Amino acid sequence: MVTLYGKSVFKDICIGKIHYYDQDEPRIERYNTDNPEKEIELYREANKKAVSQLKSLYDKALADIGAENAAIFDAHRMILEDGEFIKSVEKMIADEKINAAYAVWQTGKKFAGMFQEMDSSYMKERASDIEDVSGRVIRLISDKDKAGQDINDADKLIKLDEPAILAARNLTPSDTIRFPGDKLLGFMLEQGSPDSHTSILAKSMAIPAIVSIESIEGLKPYDGHTAILDGENGVAYIDPDEEMYSEYREKINKIQKRKKELNTLKGKESITLDGKKIRLYANVGNLRDVEAAIMNDAEGIGLFRSEFLYLENNDFPTEEHQFNVYRQVLEKMGDKKVIIRTLDIGADKKADYFRLEDEENPALGYRAVRICISRPEILKTQLRALYRAGIYGNLSILIPMIIAPEEILMVREIAGQVKSELKQEGIAYKEEVEIGVMIETPAAALISDKLAKEADFFSIGTNDLSQYTLAIDRQNRNVQPFFNPHHDAIFKLIEMSAEAIHKEGKWIGVCGELGADTEVTERLIKMGIDELSVSPGVLLEIREKIRESSSGES
Ligand code: PEP
Ligand code: MG
Repeated sequence: MVTLYGKSVFKDICIGKIHYYDQDEPRIERYNTDNPEKEIELYREANKKAVSQLKSLYDKALADIGAENAAIFDAHRMILEDGEFIKSVEKMIADEKINAAYAVWQTGKKFAGMFQEMDSSYMKERASDIEDVSGRVIRLISDKDKAGQDINDADKLIKLDEPAILAARNLTPSDTIRFPGDKLLGFMLEQGSPDSHTSILAKSMAIPAIVSIESIEGLKPYDGHTAILDGENGVAYIDPDEEMYSEYREKINKIQKRKKELNTLKGKESITLDGKKIRLYANVGNLRDVEAAIMNDAEGIGLFRSEFLYLENNDFPTEEHQFNVYRQVLEKMGDKKVIIRTLDIGADKKADYFRLEDEENPALGYRAVRICISRPEILKTQLRALYRAGIYGNLSILIPMIIAPEEILMVREIAGQVKSELKQEGIAYKEEVEIGVMIETPAAALISDKLAKEADFFSIGTNDLSQYTLAIDRQNRNVQPFFNPHHDAIFKLIEMSAEAIHKEGKWIGVCGELGADTEVTERLIKMGIDELSVSPGVLLEIREKIRESSSGES
């Protein structure tokens, strides 16, 4: 049995097999086709071209560096002309009715694995040659295939054959959302922090997760092994012994009992002992989370991270697509408040089609409202969808990463244009939608009195507010030991924002992870926080805490 320690993200326990996701491996999407013959043709053409490229490379190398060194290109050519390899690729395409690139990738992996298992070190080395030549053919297929297949959502998912604990060095949010949620038992990551977006996804799925795992060899060697993942104590036991199993069966029973106890809070008010009513809302990223929010008795949606709609698409989501999603969220929530945040793309949340440059300091870079203001056509599409969907429920719009009142005015101006265009086009939309602002930077907190004049409500993003206040990158595990989520500087900024915003008669909530930290629930309420928005899985725990707290206002 091996014990690995990390930082706990979501306090639950699971037992299952580890599936290691290797992000260094080139990843080829698999999709089904009605026309496998066309895919076989594509493969044959690419293979022929690759063979001819390798012949030219051989000739050139022969002239430049001599026969002995040129021989590698000949060996590569021979792999591509190998009858077994060709048969295997074509059979896979025909039998499984799948795309050529995926079949070449899988066949390459299978053959490379066979060489890897051979005793001779010479033969073992051939494994990487096979991967190399497969890659050459795949690139040629992809070049031909650029027009792009119409891949539907299910095909974009990364396949998991059975429920598994996902382990990886790190996962980007766009990687994470491509795993089928119903097959994920938990997460184990070598990198990351409890406030990184991938951790937030684990929380919204309510599955146990630990990050920043200390392991000299990394997690790859544990692929396929069984593990007990204890998200409560931030520990994982690989190949647990019988004693550990029985200890954990008991712990799982206790967790089940606790969940039942919390369920009795459904339908009860989120009200302090001295009678202050707190709005207890949910953070969501998709329709499945909205279902979970409803199941856990959320009083509204305090943060819909709309950027996930962008991350799960291969191109900008259309107005119609967005409208349909927002409309469904609003309809599901009935007359309850639904706060949809405009896209917070950038930093660690990147989609290729935005063509964002690599940045030296992405967290301090081109993200969120900065993209929206400088590329208003993107924001306009989203706002059109939002204002149209607004007539189906109780919508508010939230703007991320604001640092100046002028930015709010710019967004309001674009919103005004969108509404007059919709009017001119005779398209139904909601005229009055509140626009709120996120306090995610020390700048926003420090001038919250000025921002309060321009926005209708506020929500504190403590994840970013903490990283920018403490200068601690929320993605970087090396600085996690210096991270104190309860640092006085953070609370000072929260307190001064609450005071300034209340002076203008507006309300303020917390939608960052600090809002889900029961150790500070009472402290936040005493500072005047009116709303807490948390992952669906912790809503009832927070309700319990609110009901045990005093606001100190009466
Ligand atoms: C935050 O920064 O606290 C927040 C809620 O936004 P996100 O986590 O999506 O950056
Ligand atoms: Mg944020």
